[in-house]
Amino acid sequence: MTGAMPAPFDLRSDTVTRPTADMRAVMAAAEVGDDCYGDDPSVRALEAAVAERLGKPAAVFLPSGTMSNQIAVRVRCRAGDAIAAHPGAHVRIHENASAAAISGAQIMPIGDRRGYGVDELAALCHEESCGWPPVRLVWLEDTLGDAGGMPWPLRDPSAGGRGLLEVGTWARAHGRATHLDGARLWNAHVATGTPLAELAACADSVSVSLSKGLGAPVGSVLCGDEAFVAEARLHKHALGGGFRQSGIVAAAGLFALRHHVERLAEDHARARRLADAIRPLPDWEVPEPSTNLIVAPVRAPWDHAEQLCAPLRAAGVLCHPNTYREVRFALHLGIDDADLDAIVTIIRRVVSELRPSS
Ligand SMILES: *Cc1c(COP(=O)(O)O)cnc(C)c1O
Repeated sequence: MTGAMPAPFDLRSDTVTRPTADMRAVMAAAEVGDDCYGDDPSVRALEAAVAERLGKPAAVFLPSGTMSNQIAVRVRCRAGDAIAAHPGAHVRIHENASAAAISGAQIMPIGDRRGYGVDELAALCHEESCGWPPVRLVWLEDTLGDAGGMPWPLRDPSAGGRGLLEVGTWARAHGRATHLDGARLWNAHVATGTPLAELAACADSVSVSLSKGLGAPVGSVLCGDEAFVAEARLHKHALGGGFRQSGIVAAAGLFALRHHVERLAEDHARARRLADAIRPLPDWEVPEPSTNLIVAPVRAPWDHAEQLCAPLRAAGVLCHPNTYREVRFALHLGIDDADLDAIVTIIRRVVSELRPSS
């Protein structure tokens, strides 16, 4: 074939979106100041708006979700402390071991990729003698990225107590700080209908991302009480997160907060449509997505996900493995219904042509 390849459809992540024209207009007109002196009005407005939506007293704007998480760890933990987290937690497997490198904290995995319950947390905390590091921080994540964007259920009345609420309540009653990594909390809110403040109330601090489903170019907001956020601001500066006229990007975050939260339902609907369309292919198992991510474990003859992802990328559908044996597709505001039709056509053709004929 000759000629330029058409622009690829990018389903690698919900971080790949570009600011919309309306968002760029708001950014261009943003009032700014120097955030390191605390006088950028757009940053202040964003922090106040997110704190209010999450029902927390204070908030700090940060360059990334990773920095938000690492500052939460740094405020709560000293060298030699432990963090209880599920094995697939972003903070455990996608942040370059920074909890250990920056704060000297060790992550103790409990439960499975769908979270854990009070039973498992209590068992871990009861081991705290004989050289076991003390659990200073109990880590929650919603939605659960590694588990394909599943919301962590708010309540679980069964004996194991696997709800955010049960875990948060147990941690509080036993003197443990809690952090909720809510990079995709917006998706959990829209998918379940649970108010954001009700989800956020399960933890002392919460981080939310502006650059994933909300489609802003940069940023995360870390929320908590006044004392927590005051200390977080010190670490923000120490880690090089003070970014001057950041009102330019905070304005995009504010715009996204107003206009891009409820529309996440469209991404969720398109994820279900895509899942339904590719489920009949025998090459993978496609569970019903609960939000904007599809995670599909490959089936024989395939041994690992890259065997399917590489040819899909070459054909213009960008995706990559979630884990070694799982293909992941992420829906986001850059993909509309016409794109989705084209994506389905490409996936069906590429995957069928790849399959060794028997
Ligand atoms: C993406 C993500 C982060 C990190 O956010 P960045 O802004 O990419 O650093 C943290 N936690 C979860 C659950 C995420 O999905």
